[in-house]
Amino acid sequence: MDFKKLDLIDPILKALSTEGYTTPTPIQAQSIPLILEQRDLLGCAQTGTGKTAAFAIPILQLLYKNKGEERGPHKIKVLILTPTRELAIQIDESFAAYGKHTGMSHTVIFGGVSQLHQTNILRRGVDILVATPGRLLDLISQGFIDLKFLKIFVLDEADRMLDMGFINDVKRIITKLPAKRQTLFFSATMPPEIQKLANALLTNPAKVEVTPASSTVDAIDQSLYYVGKTEKPILLLHLLKDADIITALVFTRTKHGADKVVKFLHRHEITAAAIHGNKSQNARQHALGNFKDGKLRVLVATDIAARGIDIDELSHVINYELPNIPETYVHRIGRTGRAGNTGIAISFCDADERSELKDIQKLIGISIPVVKNHPYELSAGLITGPVIPQPKQGQGQGQKRSRGFGGNNRGKSGNFSGRRQTNNY
Ligand code: AMP
Repeated sequence: MDFKKLDLIDPILKALSTEGYTTPTPIQAQSIPLILEQRDLLGCAQTGTGKTAAFAIPILQLLYKNKGEERGPHKIKVLILTPTRELAIQIDESFAAYGKHTGMSHTVIFGGVSQLHQTNILRRGVDILVATPGRLLDLISQGFIDLKFLKIFVLDEADRMLDMGFINDVKRIITKLPAKRQTLFFSATMPPEIQKLANALLTNPAKVEVTPASSTVDAIDQSLYYVGKTEKPILLLHLLKDADIITALVFTRTKHGADKVVKFLHRHEITAAAIHGNKSQNARQHALGNFKDGKLRVLVATDIAARGIDIDELSHVINYELPNIPETYVHRIGRTGRAGNTGIAISFCDADERSELKDIQKLIGISIPVVKNHPYELSAGLITGPVIPQPKQGQGQGQKRSRGFGGNNRGKSGNFSGRRQTNNY
């Protein structure tokens, strides 16, 4: 399948060719024709699947084709609502890339920074607005944004909105949208509250699903290190001796934990920075920029800060601590192995994290291959001893989310080489 088969206009095909895209990803092949038919869409997909282009390309085409209809200043015709600043910036960059020959104007707004630059652009008028919920409501209430000309509404990462406590803001925004519009709704999972929201928002939607767990799992080389809690820093250092780890995104559960790992790495002369909610927007963008440019070898992140960040050619994801929501594991490792590349995901598991591991393995449908005989291995008794359930806390509302659309979550188990049975790092 080729993008040319999707009836795309030349200005978009030209931009895609500049981006080096030739073949649509499954979510793109399925969604683009439906969105061009102006259908409402319920998409089950996470970042890393090509989801952004799946909605950005047809939206740009629809706007371009109706360009002649409207004269005068730009009015907001498309709103993309997304939970994090990083994701918002990336979506805006995607509109810039795919739409560069279409003449459509777009901008991005998010909190944590001065609004002046944002309101100056809004005053001039934009066709496409990418926004996080809080800043959007703020600027609506100040009269800078009027959504009454909106034609298309995209709700991105709906389940994450719920996790991050934004769901009421989202509902308030929805009350401000015109009733007649096309709605595209994306979520990696469908907990009941999100399903209810989808039912309320969508009219006779087409449903498109790329099974997130299995597709991610298949593309990524996963391994597991049993290790004592206090030995995790030294194991990380040990692994980083491997020059094959050019860049690593390391996940911790807490902001404090992220800072501690960075300090430890600095002491051992490894370039690293942390991104989490306590860091300013500028500090986060700076760290991300340095990491993307190769000036930093390690980026340590909490789930919320890292959600959706798009780093091409990220070779390694390291789960320094396992997440207590199993789907988060899939989101984390999905940062590597993007758009068909293979990636490597290494997970540390201490004696207290075995119940999280069990839940993760149940979700992805495989036992993650265990690296044996490494220098910091947890003693056998602690690996196989009784699991003491840990209190579930942390992320968002601390609830386990449902298993999505009931897609096939089984990964392949036979495609791992035997090398991880020995210590190669
Ligand atoms: P997303 O799921 O939107 O975060 O996209 C994941 C990554 O895949 C991004 O780096 C995109 O630039 C890239 N990408 C999206 N669509 C394609 C495609 N058809 N061919 C190659 N790369 C793509």
